[in-house]
Amino acid sequence: MLKKKISKILVGTNNKGKLKEIKGLLPKSIKTFSTSDFNLKSPAENGQTFKENSIIKSKYFSKKSNLVCIADDSGLEIDCLDKKPGIFSARWAGSKGDFNKAIKRVYRELDKRDKNWRAKKIKARFVCALSICYFDKIISSVIGKIEGYISKDIRGKNGFGYDPIFIPKKRKQTFGEMKFSNKCKIDHRSIAFKKIKKFL
Ligand code: IMP
Repeated sequence: MLKKKISKILVGTNNKGKLKEIKGLLPKSIKTFSTSDFNLKSPAENGQTFKENSIIKSKYFSKKSNLVCIADDSGLEIDCLDKKPGIFSARWAGSKGDFNKAIKRVYRELDKRDKNWRAKKIKARFVCALSICYFDKIISSVIGKIEGYISKDIRGKNGFGYDPIFIPKKRKQTFGEMKFSNKCKIDHRSIAFKKIKKFL
């Protein structure tokens, strides 16, 4: 365990949505750096789980920058699609990160499974594995999840990624319809963040 609290940290992501969200969750007293400060490309995510991939990214970016690094690996699990897209959530958007394409694929796969899916509740969750590493040392690695449903249509322009089709449990709005600052207070990333607070 770390004796001292972390005073500077690299946010290990090249995803602008995640960067904004993680920066907002980190205490203001910590000096943050981003991958663009070091011109770093992301490593191959060849782990089998969210946790493995977050550790791969965190160790990789830490070694490249010489800084403690916090990295997340996250995605959407849809129960009736055998938890797909899961760790392939980013890859469903293709090399250009086109989330219209990823969302259309979700709807296409649901249609294939059951033409009548819109009449049912399609259970899903966002998962976030968050890891803090310094070179090969894992300081902390935790998981946060938020349960919910897939929306029958694409709603809202806020947020990023799959936000316009995810409705958290006990809510009516999609993440894409919520104010970004409100989404960030309740989502999988903030749940994971609460578990690593003691290091920050
Ligand atoms: P990765 O962790 O970089 O492999 O990417 C995970 C993918 O899941 C991203 O491309 C996101 O768009 C999607 N994702 C993760 N978290 C969220 C979220 O909070 N809202 C919407 N999409 C998300």
